Amino acid sequence: MNSLLNIHNYDTYIISFSGGKDSTACFLWLLEQGVPLHKIELWHQNIDGDNGQFFDWEVTPDYCRKFAEAFGVKIYFQWKSGGFKRELLRNNSLTAPICFEASEGGINEVGGTRGKLSTRLKFPQQSPDLKVRWCSSYLKIDVCATSIRNQERFNNQRTLVISGERGEESPQRAKYKIFEADKSDARNSNKKRHVDRLRPIRDWKEQQIWDIIKRHRIRVHPCYYMGWNRCSCKFCIFSGRNQFASAAYISPEQIKDIIRLEKEFGCTINRKCDLTTLIQSGTIYSDITTKLARIALSHIYTLSIIMLDDEEWFLPAGAFGENCGST
Ligand code: SF4
Repeated sequence: MNSLLNIHNYDTYIISFSGGKDSTACFLWLLEQGVPLHKIELWHQNIDGDNGQFFDWEVTPDYCRKFAEAFGVKIYFQWKSGGFKRELLRNNSLTAPICFEASEGGINEVGGTRGKLSTRLKFPQQSPDLKVRWCSSYLKIDVCATSIRNQERFNNQRTLVISGERGEESPQRAKYKIFEADKSDARNSNKKRHVDRLRPIRDWKEQQIWDIIKRHRIRVHPCYYMGWNRCSCKFCIFSGRNQFASAAYISPEQIKDIIRLEKEFGCTINRKCDLTTLIQSGTIYSDITTKLARIALSHIYTLSIIMLDDEEWFLPAGAFGENCGST
């Protein structure tokens, strides 16, 4: 860990929490450092925002909410107004405002009134370049930074944002700094908003992730038990053929909408073939059951986050499986 970092020297700790195994590991790691729970906040950037269900897992927001409840920590949601679909359908228009839950209650909305008129009408491209892989920047990174910048409570204090990128996932991620000033930092301005970014698990192997999850007896997001190795968007643009075939199998109506749009745009998500061809060439994960699919596609998560005393923790089917996710 970076010698400049004193982990106990912050007023607030924000975990960028997707509900997946890596952000779960970050939270558990922070607990093991002895950081008090009242200083920790989980922040979840909701990909579909306030626009129904289009791209992400139905259960993810409530899984995150129940996770926070299980540990007695605060959770705040942020999103781009209209979510993934509105940005995808942007046609000679401004990008939408960013919305975030405020600590004092209520929802604040910022932006969406200035900037360039622009057209997307194509899915994000599979690229490390965030300009064309716009989902990561527009729906997650900018949403998080803007939500910090626009809350006075972060001025005149020290905040540590913790995120779970791992070098094992891609060469790009391996080059990310473990510790640096966050995008939202303004420590030298009159706001004195000191925000650092920590990636404590950048050099961890997947085995270490499952080890810490096992140690704390966490029941992970249901997608892992069905065979997914990463808990990204249900229809993540980086999904391979098996993952897309599995997602199409459990959400047949949603995939029709995505296939229709891909055709309309005349630009495929996968560089080599269209979505229908990709799905037909894939194999559906054999661990998908009706029960697991129902849990993953529900808006309410009812299982315990921490395994019950009479339950044995077990490695989910997706552990050490296909690594399909953002670069
Ligand atoms: S999980 Fe995939 S589709 Fe979703 S925002 Fe990240 S890169 Fe984009």
